[in-house]
Amino acid sequence: MQVVKTVKIPVHYATTRRKLDILNRLTARLTYGVHLWSQIVDANDIRTRSGLRRSKFERQVQERTGLSAGFVQCCADTALWMWRSYRKLHREWRWRVRRAQRKGDERWLRRLVKREPQPPFSNGLRRKIPIWFDYRIGSLEVSELKLSPRVVRISTLKRGERITVLLNPARYHLDLLERGEIKSFQLIKRGKKFYVHVKVEYEVQDQPVRAVCGVDLGIKRSAATVLLRPNKPMRRGDFSVICDGEKAHRLNELNRRVEKLQRLEKWEALKRVRDKRRRVAEYYDRLMAKRIAEISNGCAVAIGYPKGIKYGNYRGNGKRKLRRLMARWTYGRIIRYTQEECAERGIEVVTPDERWSSMTCHRCGSRNTERLRQSIIHCYDCGLTYNADFNGAINIGSSILATPRSRWAAVDPAITSDELAEEVREAGSPCL
Ligand SMILES: [Zn+2]
Repeated sequence: MQVVKTVKIPVHYATTRRKLDILNRLTARLTYGVHLWSQIVDANDIRTRSGLRRSKFERQVQERTGLSAGFVQCCADTALWMWRSYRKLHREWRWRVRRAQRKGDERWLRRLVKREPQPPFSNGLRRKIPIWFDYRIGSLEVSELKLSPRVVRISTLKRGERITVLLNPARYHLDLLERGEIKSFQLIKRGKKFYVHVKVEYEVQDQPVRAVCGVDLGIKRSAATVLLRPNKPMRRGDFSVICDGEKAHRLNELNRRVEKLQRLEKWEALKRVRDKRRRVAEYYDRLMAKRIAEISNGCAVAIGYPKGIKYGNYRGNGKRKLRRLMARWTYGRIIRYTQEECAERGIEVVTPDERWSSMTCHRCGSRNTERLRQSIIHCYDCGLTYNADFNGAINIGSSILATPRSRWAAVDPAITSDELAEEVREAGSPCL
């Protein structure tokens, strides 16, 4: 299986002022190039790369920016990509609006209208847009320098001139670069610092699929996972819960600091703490993704994608407590990280739509169920009482099994009366 990963390497701190000035001017000019292309894409309603490759347009941009042909084409690709993703987002948004209109949900509709995706550059040229460098305009090279084992050599605004930019890669970056094939890279400015984002592609061994690991990202607990083996009953050891207590604790602490700094109007410090809060959240999400990949142990992973769960729970719908619990949830990121971690181990990840997974009984497939508590689900049709998160995880996992558990369970419900169901009945709720 091919895996593509982006490695983010900082530009070396010993880079001279002169070079930084060159990089600043270059990235500004490239952003202008992308901006011009963006106008062309918009005006001519271009949707494909071949539509872009017209010498008339290329000359036009070249004349106005003074960039070389290689740069001009890379700018064009970036502009086209921006428009493509905008059009996709807008399509999805229109679909949501139509649905809200059908349902007559006035409040939600008003909110949606405010969230209409904006076309590229609708805020003008405030932010720098990175482009992907290809072989014509830059390369990433191994260097003999002690200071910096990797450098990028890139063309500048002066024709024929190339500069060498020293990088400051960590051991971990170097390992990744050595393992794979370097596709292209971007020059990115964050704050006052430059980074090089390198796209690396490498091969990982596919793991044979023996079973499925169903993952339910719950609201109260971090994640419940279940290993499902075709035609085998579930055992106690197949269930596990990854808790997020520590993440919640640290984020709460940082939230309090953010609130305090807001009151004191200390904007600089506020920015630092917010950055930290983001890094902490990312760290714990990464940790969880690694855990899921470990637990799945070579099985295909099915992770429930809670479509619209945050979207549907807008302010003022009366579910304040639920929303606050969800605020620290970053489903999209956890799923993305899990995909990355699993891909690296050669594990397949699927994200079935989990709309009904939480309220469907996994044993008989009925939706005639009720939550006795947040954590316990009861089925009125077959009488199952079960841990709600695990019930969801089983449904998610079995949705990609060849013979869904719930279906063959309907033939013989006894087969899924596993150890966990027994425990639930005895103790009320396991593992809390
Ligand atoms: Zn049932």
